[in-house]
Amino acid sequence: MLIENGSQRASRVRSKSCGRCQREFPVLYRVKHQLAGDWEFLCRPCLEEVRPGNVHYQYGGTWKSHKRR
Ligand SMILES: [Zn+2]
Repeated sequence: MLIENGSQRASRVRSKSCGRCQREFPVLYRVKHQLAGDWEFLCRPCLEEVRPGNVHYQYGGTWKSHKRR
C-alpha cells in the first residue's frame, strides 16, 4: 500500500528481527551464545533466555533502529 503524503522526509526506520523468535524489535542485542556460533542479534526476552548459565555467552553491543546523530 502506497500512501502519498507529499513529503519526502519520511523517517527512515531500519528494522532488524531477532535471530531466535524472528520478531522485529527497535533494539536488539548482539551476542554469541553457542560454541561455534557466530554473532547473532537477539531481542531482550530471548537474551534473558539464552544467557543464564551459558558459558559461550558474549555480549557484543546493542543495535538500535534509531541512530543518534
Ligand atoms: Zn527474540
